[in-house]
Order: sequence, then C-alpha cells, then structure tokens
Amino acid sequence: MRLAKLFLAVPVALGLSTALVRPASAQVSISANITGTAPSASANQDVMDALNFLATDFAPNTGSSAFHMTASIQWADLGFSSGGYTLGDSSAGSSFYQTHNNTLYINPLDRYLFGAASTVNPGAGYTDFTIELNNNSQVPWDYTLGAPSNFNNISLASVMYHESIHSMGFAAFNDSDGNYSFSTNGGAGSLAPTLWTTHLFDATTNQAFTADTLAQRQAVMVSGSNSKLLFTGTDAQAANGGNRVAMYAPTTFETSSSDGSHIAFSQGGAGLLYPSISNGVYLTPTKLELAMMQDIGWRTINSPAVPEASTTASFGLLLALGLGGFAVARRRHVKA
Ligand SMILES: [Zn+2]
Repeated sequence: MRLAKLFLAVPVALGLSTALVRPASAQVSISANITGTAPSASANQDVMDALNFLATDFAPNTGSSAFHMTASIQWADLGFSSGGYTLGDSSAGSSFYQTHNNTLYINPLDRYLFGAASTVNPGAGYTDFTIELNNNSQVPWDYTLGAPSNFNNISLASVMYHESIHSMGFAAFNDSDGNYSFSTNGGAGSLAPTLWTTHLFDATTNQAFTADTLAQRQAVMVSGSNSKLLFTGTDAQAANGGNRVAMYAPTTFETSSSDGSHIAFSQGGAGLLYPSISNGVYLTPTKLELAMMQDIGWRTINSPAVPEASTTASFGLLLALGLGGFAVARRRHVKA
C-alpha cells in the first residue's frame, strides 16, 4: 500500500503572503519528534518554530477544547541533481486512517472530525504524520520564519508548512491509472477516495471526479496547463472569486504530485501548495488554501469568506523565477 510521499514544493510569488489575524494563543498544537542528522543546530529549532506558527492558523473543532497533533520529522539525504531536488516528503502517519461512508479520512483529519473512538488504536508512539526533510550538503536551507536573507537559500519553514498541510488532508492519493491509492480496509478490498478527492471536479465531463470512469479520471489528471481538474468547495470558491480552484495537472502524470494534491500554476499569484517552491522566498498558507482546508472540515483562524487579495501581479515574475531559479522538483525527477 502506498501511503505515500507527497512532495511538496512550491513556486512562489514574492512578498505576497497573506497577513493573518492570529489569536493570542494557538488552540491547535503540534509536537514533533525529530530524528536523523540535522544540517545544523538551528534547523531543528526552525522546524519546531514552523510547526508552532502553522498551528496558529487552525482552531479546534466545534465542541473540542483543544486538538493536538504529533509529527515525526526525519532528516535524511533525499538526493540532489542539477535538475532539481526534493525538499521534503510527507505522509499520513503510518497506517492510521479510517473510512466513513466510503470516504477515506487520513490522520489527523479523522481524529479531528470523528474523535478518538474512530481512530485505529493510536497506542504508544502514535504519530499523525511523518515528514522527511532533505539533509544534503547541496541543499541551501534557511532557518528563519521570514524571507531568506540569502536569495539562493530555501525557506525550511515554508517547506514545513507545505508538507504539514499535506499531512493534514490536502492530499488526493490518486494513482496514474485513475484508481484511488487506498483500500478501505488497509489491504485487499474496494478502494475509497480520500475526503480531498471527493472535492475534485472534472471540468471535461462536468461532474465530480469520483463520478468519472477510470479512463476519465486518468485523462483529467494529465489535462495540461489549462487544467480541467478543479477543487470544489463552498469556502474555496468564496475565496476564489466564486470559481473552482484549478489543480496541478501536467501532461505527464507525476505520482503523488499531480493527482489533485497541488494547486495549478494557472491560478497565478502566490501559493504555498503549488508543486514546487523557489529559493529566496517565505510562504505561509494563503486564505484560499485555508479555505480549502475548511472545506475538508478544519476550522481555520483566518476567515476564508474574505476574498483573496489580488495576487496576480507577480505571476510573470514567478515564471521568470521558475525558469532560472527553481530550486525544487520531485525526487523522481532527479537523476541519480
Ligand atoms: Zn506537495
């Protein structure tokens, strides 16, 4: 079973991070166990600072006094090549997931929405999600919660936000042949779409992605730059000018990246959940991305009902950056 790698990365638009109104104290909290050899002592502190910062975007579910998540952060050499490199991978915590009404909820979303009673026995050492970070001497990390002072460096905090949000449910888990990646019972058996996937819409067939045939699903995931693969949801559309959100669907399928798990470049502007991230920029979740998280059940602090401020001005710059300074690509693109 592939509980897979969600690659992260993000292109960026400079200086467009949304200013968030944050509560005095976060009500969702995240703790982490960090293993492996970190590239520097500052790195692990930055990881923790990033998780604490991200937690302030989210609030407990109705009726819940608090919600705590545990993360496993692992430093490892994920490789490097001149063609690009992976900054981080994320996955749902081990095999902890549940289906409800033939829809798959990965942790921690399952625990958040349905409570401990529906959770596969967490037990000792329970983790909600696992993130791998690339410790390679050629990966120039920056360890601040802000724009890197060196334009060539990569914001570790931004990568942590991206991967963590994947682990919180911004994850489709669809295979290139159109099948869902998860079985409803963890082994053999019928497959269930993730909650995220149930929000995907096929503009080619004009119906829900889950209503498509296997061949139709396969086709829309490689529909190209003018992506027909959209995310639909009340809050997302309110934050996107009334429109569904275009999702990344390059003409060649990229496992765990172009399956509906990232926002399309054609959306323009700045975004944390684009498929790659450029050097020299610091990204936090946009209102649109928080709205999408609201559509899958999270409560977020920043009201998604407020339309996103225009972020289109820098798109040309973003493309220019992408051509010359893209720092990231998925691991499978890297040639050994
Ligand atoms: Zn990603």
